[in-house]
Amino acid sequence: MVSRIIPVDEFDLVIFGATGDLAHRKILPGLYRRYVAGQIPASAQIIGAARTKQDDKAFREEARAAIREFAGKGDDLSQIDDFLNHLGYVAIDARGSDGWAELKSRIRPGVVHAFYFSVAPALFGDIAQRLAENGIADQHSRIVVEKPFGRDLATARDLNATLARHFAENQIYRIDHYLGKETVQNLMAVRFANMLFEPLWNAQYVDHVQITVAETVGVGGRGEYYDHSGAIRDMVQNHMMQLLCLIAMEPPYHFDPDAVRDEKLKVIRALEPLEPGDIVRGQYRGSPDGSDYLKDAENPDSRTESYVALKVNIANWRWTGTPFYLRTGKKLRARTSEIVVTFKAPPHSIFDESDGPRSNQLVIKLQPNEGMDLTVMIKEPGPGGMRLVQVPLDMSFADALGANGTDMPDAYERLIMDVIRGNQTLFMRGDEVEAAWAWTDPIIAEWEAGSKRPEPYDAGSSGPEEALRLLHRDNRRWREIRP
Ligand code: NAP
Repeated sequence: MVSRIIPVDEFDLVIFGATGDLAHRKILPGLYRRYVAGQIPASAQIIGAARTKQDDKAFREEARAAIREFAGKGDDLSQIDDFLNHLGYVAIDARGSDGWAELKSRIRPGVVHAFYFSVAPALFGDIAQRLAENGIADQHSRIVVEKPFGRDLATARDLNATLARHFAENQIYRIDHYLGKETVQNLMAVRFANMLFEPLWNAQYVDHVQITVAETVGVGGRGEYYDHSGAIRDMVQNHMMQLLCLIAMEPPYHFDPDAVRDEKLKVIRALEPLEPGDIVRGQYRGSPDGSDYLKDAENPDSRTESYVALKVNIANWRWTGTPFYLRTGKKLRARTSEIVVTFKAPPHSIFDESDGPRSNQLVIKLQPNEGMDLTVMIKEPGPGGMRLVQVPLDMSFADALGANGTDMPDAYERLIMDVIRGNQTLFMRGDEVEAAWAWTDPIIAEWEAGSKRPEPYDAGSSGPEEALRLLHRDNRRWREIRP
């Protein structure tokens, strides 16, 4: 299968925060990979901007080192010099007045203009204002903003209002890199381009859904930042909410940014408020390997959760009666992100199965390897009578799509190219973000008003015991966390 690389239009991309971690680890290596893939046009310009004083040459060497360090194992590094010729740099303090005139002089008329705000959200307003005041951005420009988009509804509204002073909603690209994953988009293809699943995709046939985002790392060097955030803000309000929406939403009338985002918004608005018994918070503590959240966060009294499990109900015709169980945490047994749709068991078995008929499961794997598994019951091969066995129909994209499967663009690459193409489908709209905060705010407020501590769990485990009970009490169990 030959993949189709469609070059994007000529563009100037300015990366504010170009000397930072995200630019080094994701944005620059991602752009390089798209360059190697032939998607970056010959005259494209990528301009780094940050306070560090340096010239184009020094920035190119910085970018070279970052690409070398963070490119994928199989990446072709032979075109780095050519790629670096597209890079420039302007020293700018987002809060100062120097550098903006130079930036303006470098931006070419008549091409796509995109401004990536890879800086702390506190600087978004300053940058937006100066881009507008200096006549660098106009009504055709696009801006890309990173998470965290607010820390509650009030701050998200402020941030939306700040950006709205200078840019229209159709110019704002709020990145959630989970939406850039191949499998996440495939979820929409599987649901809406096949007849197979959609008739079963409702409370009549789906017993429950599990969404797991498990990490093996602790809060490490981000301890102070994380301690002001916690798992609900860091993972649930954004990434997990987006996954939930794509599983639960109604078919949009067309694969069009606003049609898709309208349907996602309806799901968020249909989420029932959580009961206290439907939430489990955990913290890795006093683990045999020495890991301890309180030490990592340098806060012995911290009540911030490094793990959370939720039972979520969606109050609409399609889903009433089918719970969605969400869990995410740090220092867990394995690094994995997956969605498991468990169908109901057949109502009656004609076979002599000692443990009764078993359910089919559709496992959608996002990390570490993207792909899907559908478990089905078949007859165990051999002469031993009619014994049944559950087997996966495995659809690993790398296997199914040959070389193209292993060469899938990273989420950031795809999303940056979507910005240049002007396609907002995989970006969060302002009202979606606000609705997600409106749902999570009471959960956070209720917790902060109380005095309970998160349940402790050992590093390397599957999370706190209490989270197991969240499912046991419904006669269900979590799928094992495994790589
Ligand atoms: P970082 O490593 O701290 O980098 C911040 C960047 O901002 C640096 O290039 C810094 O360069 C620049 N900067 C700081 N103050 C500035 C100012 N006044 N004017 C102009 N530039 C300024 O942060 P990061 O990890 O790259 O994160 C950037 C954004 O992405 C944040 O919003 C973060 O939450 C978000 N994000 C990051 C990741 C990640 O994996 N790193 C993941 C998701 C979201 P100078 O010091 O040279 O000015």
